Order: sequence, then C-alpha cells, then structure tokens
Amino acid sequence: MPSLEDYPRDLLEFEARFSTDALCREYLVQLRWPEGFRCPDCNHDKAWAVRGAALECARCHRHTRVTAGTIFQDTKKPLRVWFRAIWYVTSQKNGASALGLQRILGIRSYVTAWSWLHKLRRAMVRPGRDRLRGTVEVDEAYVGGLEEGVSGRETEQKALVAVAAEEDGGGIGRIRLQHIPDASALSLHSFVATSIESGSVVHTDGWAAYNGLEAFGYKRKVTVVSRRRKRAHELLPRVHRIISLLKRWILGTHQGAISREHLEYYLDEFTFRFNRRTSQNRGKLFYRLLQQAVQTAPAPYTALAKRIRPGPEHGPSRRKTR
Ligand SMILES: [Zn+2]
Repeated sequence: MPSLEDYPRDLLEFEARFSTDALCREYLVQLRWPEGFRCPDCNHDKAWAVRGAALECARCHRHTRVTAGTIFQDTKKPLRVWFRAIWYVTSQKNGASALGLQRILGIRSYVTAWSWLHKLRRAMVRPGRDRLRGTVEVDEAYVGGLEEGVSGRETEQKALVAVAAEEDGGGIGRIRLQHIPDASALSLHSFVATSIESGSVVHTDGWAAYNGLEAFGYKRKVTVVSRRRKRAHELLPRVHRIISLLKRWILGTHQGAISREHLEYYLDEFTFRFNRRTSQNRGKLFYRLLQQAVQTAPAPYTALAKRIRPGPEHGPSRRKTR
C-alpha cells in the first residue's frame, strides 16, 4: 500500500510512474479504496484482477471497474491520456483552456478537451467540504466579459458572483464563490449558509439584504462605506482582491470565453486553485484532484452541455445560433 499522499513530485517522476494504463489503474484503486478494496455488492475485501481491467469479488464474483461510477466511466480514451490531462491542468499555475489542453495532448476533438475540463471542474469541489469559519468577508460583484447567453434573452454579458474570504491576519484564508441570480436577501443568505459555518463573524458592507443573518447564528460586522469615507476595496480588501484575480483569470486563461450557464464550474476551478495556492508541490494538486475524481459521479457529455456554444474558444463554428 502506498503511504498517505503518495504523488509524483515532477514531470519525470510522473512520466516514469504512469507510463501504462495498468499503472494508472493501480493508482486509482489505491485512491478509491485507501483501506483496501471492498466489493460494492457484498463488502467482501478479497478480489482478483480479471480481463477487461476489472476486479472480481472472491465471494460474489461481481466484476467492478475502478472507473465505474467516477468521472472516468465509459471513457474511450486511455487512462494515461487522462492522467496527462490532469497533470497538465494541475501543474499550470492558472490552469488550462480547452484549446490549450487539446493541443498539448494532441486530442483531435475540441469537444473532448472541453468536456474533460468540465468533468475535472466537477471533481474540484470536494463533496461535504468544510465551510469557512472565523471572520469572513462577504460581498458580491458583477463579473463581466462573459459570452452572451445562448437563449437570446441574456444580452447582458455580466453575472453576479458572491464572494466569501476568510480573514487570516492581514491576508486571505480560504475562499468560496457562487454565481447568484441577484443580490436579494434570499440569495445572499443562502450563499452565507452554504459557505460559512454558523457562529462565524460575517463582515459585509451596509447592504440591507445582509440584515437578519443573526437569526441563523451568525455574528455581523458591518463596515459602512459613507461613514468611513473610504473606498469599497479598502473596506473589504480581501473580497475585492479575489474579484480582481478572478476577472484577470477569466480574461487571461480563458480569454473571456466562459458562458454564464457554465460560470459556476469555472468558479469551482478558481476556488480549487486559490485554496491550494500555498501548496509546496504541484504534484499534490494532481493527487488531490485524482482522489476527488474517483469519488465524483460521472457527468455524461449531454449533461454537461446541451449545446457547445460558439466563441473564440469553441472550435470550428463561429456561427451564432439563436
Ligand atoms: Zn462481492
């Protein structure tokens, strides 16, 4: 059995370790069953490898694929190509665009690269992750430069994003981001409830929609702009720093080619990277993402996108469909 957090430290180690699909599969088995294999049917702990890359339970003879029920389910591409994709995505400081991934892997289809990145984004949110705590700045801001909505109704290329950032001395601890429909009390209260543990101090500006959080067990710290005669970014510096980094990432790495309907997945990726920004080794992100990938249910392409949207990032078709 591997020790806890066993991951390659650099590209050479990576290449040596994952040169075949069998080696990749072995690694996935260790990540999926860290305590050793358990049959999903009868919970028996003895199994042997059989043809077709499956494990056969020694008691009930059920065949289990390590990829079944994960984002790798039903993939037609070799696992070692997937591993390379994950290594590339996690070793780049700012992640990758679908076009960049397509090029580096030599995948023929843009749509494949695009859907892989979306599957990986789904795996970036750890199920049952902890909520933020302590003193947490919360604010909301419009993020612009998004692609126009496909429905024809969403002509406004902006989306409202709620941001929560833990205060860590003068710096930023962990963050959470969420695409919200509006800045109403309902939207903001539910963002706070899913992102921050009750008992924490929620630090906001004077926007009235934040009133009433005390009823849910939060403490409030309100900094009002006019009274302090300061600019908003000085009053809630952490959330404003996050917003400006987010905007830069959307325009830089993705050249603004993010649609509103998929924005929340990009926010998840941004959060995954940001919350691991101090990680000593990029290999650890690779490990973490793979670990979460084998615990994430498959997302068929059709569920990811009912349509691929035209745009500079979106391959052959530039035609607007309305
Ligand atoms: Zn069994």
